Amino acid sequence: MLPKIDTTGLIDFLTRLLNTPSPTGFTEQAINLCEGALQDIPGIQIQRTRKGALVATLPGATDGPWRALTAHVDTLGAMVKEIKPNGRLKMTKLGGFPWNTVEGEGVRVYTAFGETVRGSILLTKASVHVYGQDVGKSERNDDTMEIRLDARTESAEETRGLEIEVGDFVVFDPRVEVTDGFVRSRHLDDKACVACMIQAVKTLSEAGLTPQVTTVLHVSNYEEVGHGAAAGIPAEVSELISVDMAAVGNGQTSDEFHATLCVKDSGGPYHYGLNQKMRRLAEAYAIPYKIDIYPYYGSDGEAFWRAGGDVAVALIGPGVDASHNYERTHTEALEATTRWCLAYMLD
Ligand SMILES: [Zn+2]
Repeated sequence: MLPKIDTTGLIDFLTRLLNTPSPTGFTEQAINLCEGALQDIPGIQIQRTRKGALVATLPGATDGPWRALTAHVDTLGAMVKEIKPNGRLKMTKLGGFPWNTVEGEGVRVYTAFGETVRGSILLTKASVHVYGQDVGKSERNDDTMEIRLDARTESAEETRGLEIEVGDFVVFDPRVEVTDGFVRSRHLDDKACVACMIQAVKTLSEAGLTPQVTTVLHVSNYEEVGHGAAAGIPAEVSELISVDMAAVGNGQTSDEFHATLCVKDSGGPYHYGLNQKMRRLAEAYAIPYKIDIYPYYGSDGEAFWRAGGDVAVALIGPGVDASHNYERTHTEALEATTRWCLAYMLD
């Protein structure tokens, strides 16, 4: 039997994390929130890597090769690329997503001076009364999408007067909503898994238990650009569980009510022996799970492999619908993922 999870606590923390801005490169506030959630766990040692990731080490009940779990707190976002002559902003993307997935979204521009300015992402030819069919037919790209600021500006000079400059971070509104067990929000990838991983450790410690062997929690901050967990996994670690969302859609086995073990993605197959172990644990503890393959997907486990990490890697996570879009999952998948992390730490 696994100790019972505080689901309300899990959803509360997830909601707070979702509402904390953390596009890749601008993750300190979210890392602080994670550190705050972990710092009171007895025996835990918390460090930051120079790159800004969080590495928390929990001493194990027995000696033996260390284990690690990694999940990423960085999300999709954008940066101001140019201030246009009409005062609006051209953007450059942080992470991989098509522009149509954020069209119409509210944003906050973070200036270098600590101020924020509201705005929204629109097509340059946004009004159907002015541009007719072009509104539907225009290709969405870096040149045709812009930020309209909720401030009085019609020139580059006026926008610079708001202290906005090239390089400022652009944060998309997550629009978090929890209804009947569903959690709908941007950036469930991968904040859902960060919350599950942290909740698993809290559940363990509140039940007075310790992990079987020394276990490292790695909260990654550069996953969306491909090199998150390339650094920060201690040399003592022999197994790494990448905890990241499962891709839901046509032809996929994953859904919003299960956790998934991904056996292959764009980076090739994961570690067979560790996969078998995760399947055995899911069966032993009646964790609702699926096995799946993700066609266009890379993980932080592979980032560590590519960086030369000599460990077994497996990938688990909750099913997330409409990934890198306006995402949604369900509490059942979050509970399954948390229990899977818990079972792994105790085994
Ligand atoms: Zn992810």
